[in-house]
Amino acid sequence: MPSVLDNALYEMFCGANMGWAAYPGMSHAAYTCIASSGDAEQQALYLPRIASGEWAGTMCLTEPHAGTDLGLLRTRAQPRADGSYAVTGTKIFISGGEQDLTDNIVHLVLARLPDAPPGVKGISLFIVPKFLPAAEGGLGERNALACGSIEHKMGIHGNATCTMNFDGATGWLLGEVNRGLAAMFVMMNHARIVVGVNAIGLMDAAYQKALGYARDRTQGRAPTMAARSGPADPILAHADVRRTLLTQKAYVEGTRAFALWASQLADVQHRGADPKERERAATLLALATPIVKAFSSELAVECTSMAMQVFGGHGFIADNGVEQHLRDARIIPLYEGANGIQAMDLLGRKVLADGGAGLGLFLDAVEQFAQPQDDGPCEFAEPLSDVVALARRAAREQIERAALDPHAAGAAAIPFLRLIGHVALAWMWARMAAVAQARRASDDPHYRAKLATARFYFERLLPETQSLAVVLAADASDWTAGELDWL
Ligand SMILES: Cc1cc2nc3c(=O)[nH]c(=O)nc-3n(C[C@H](O)[C@H](O)[C@H](O)COP(=O)(O)OP(=O)(O)OC[C@H]3O[C@@H](n4cnc5c(N)ncnc54)[C@H](O)[C@@H]3O)c2cc1C
Repeated sequence: MPSVLDNALYEMFCGANMGWAAYPGMSHAAYTCIASSGDAEQQALYLPRIASGEWAGTMCLTEPHAGTDLGLLRTRAQPRADGSYAVTGTKIFISGGEQDLTDNIVHLVLARLPDAPPGVKGISLFIVPKFLPAAEGGLGERNALACGSIEHKMGIHGNATCTMNFDGATGWLLGEVNRGLAAMFVMMNHARIVVGVNAIGLMDAAYQKALGYARDRTQGRAPTMAARSGPADPILAHADVRRTLLTQKAYVEGTRAFALWASQLADVQHRGADPKERERAATLLALATPIVKAFSSELAVECTSMAMQVFGGHGFIADNGVEQHLRDARIIPLYEGANGIQAMDLLGRKVLADGGAGLGLFLDAVEQFAQPQDDGPCEFAEPLSDVVALARRAAREQIERAALDPHAAGAAAIPFLRLIGHVALAWMWARMAAVAQARRASDDPHYRAKLATARFYFERLLPETQSLAVVLAADASDWTAGELDWL
């Protein structure tokens, strides 16, 4: 299925239940890894069974002392005479590590060979199934691995997060020796877009609940109201409640448009006919990936909290269902590369490392849209051009500062990502507004809503970029260097 369609659908699964949706989500990730790095025999054995849902997949990277820094991992793989490996070690926080939904669980495990170099260059990837495949792909003996415990978590209770102990479990090398992390990253880049999509599904589910509640719940009198009935007005009549709901709507629809744009880039990168277009799509996708993951997930925490605010105290009560979205949302900025790491990826690898070339390509595309189009000038041309200029200035400043101060990029990464996230959303809203303008004669409420929300976004949310620019211009050396013994 094309990524763009797959992600549009997966967003709905996540809006329904993000914890549960992680089971097929992890299987999809394992599938992608085996499809890109497995040999013909491995692909023939595992892929059809994972695709059909008979077998599930997991990704086993994290260890107690090795989270972000996978170079520290200690799980060992000892070669055996028959070509298989004995895998020994403990992995923690493994999504879907144990369950009885599927006949078998295919664990993809990062481990070190005895002679592996230290750090990330000595990590290989292994297929370690719960049940060893028998002849004809049936199930054989139980492998030497077990779930040690299931975590008690803040959210995503619909998914078992497990400690997995591998005690000389039989595994097979997937891809090349010492290239395990590279094999994993093929999948991880895809997964980062997918977790951004998770965030959007949650935001939308929470927003829909909040909107429904605001229509029903009556409290107080609004200053003006076309028709009044009963002793109080629906809280939707209050300007502050509208502000909260419109903020959620603008972020849900803006991030959705951007995530789908990124998904389309993935399709062009993998299946485009023109090599130049494929290369351009790959550059833009590399830039967009940390933004989709980190900006959408940050907004999901903010927006699910806003949805709870619309419910007042009733939002805090579990029966009303909205608190689950806030609890579920909180994991997304943490896993699949914590947001701080995503932000460093954007600023460090995708901006500083190439002197801003990839970002320039993206900003040129946005600026192009601010120019008059065939069907007339863009209503948001000025704020769009302004925010592009602001982003260019901020990127230049960061490139200059990074040359002088090794901590500067780390200090600026998160505000920088948020600034570029807003550029992306401003572009998406200008594009959606242009379509709505072209259809305005139809008086379709969908297009009216799009235009009104675009105006809200440009007037009320995009101005945050001004304060981000001030933060980014500030010198951080007084708190980034030295021991910080005063904290
Ligand atoms: C519910 C759940 C499900 C999970 N599912 C899986 C799974 O299926 N498979 C799997 O392998 N793992 C899984 N994880 C693990 C998850 O990916 C890790 O928690 C995540 O990678 C962060 O690692 P850590 O928790 O060890 O945090 P740390 O790496 O200890 O990071 C702590 C903080 O320090 C910051 N930090 C760390 N290093 C740096 C640096 N160099 N520069 C700047 N800041 C830094 C981080 O941004 C973070 O804010 C899951 C975790 C949870 C909670």
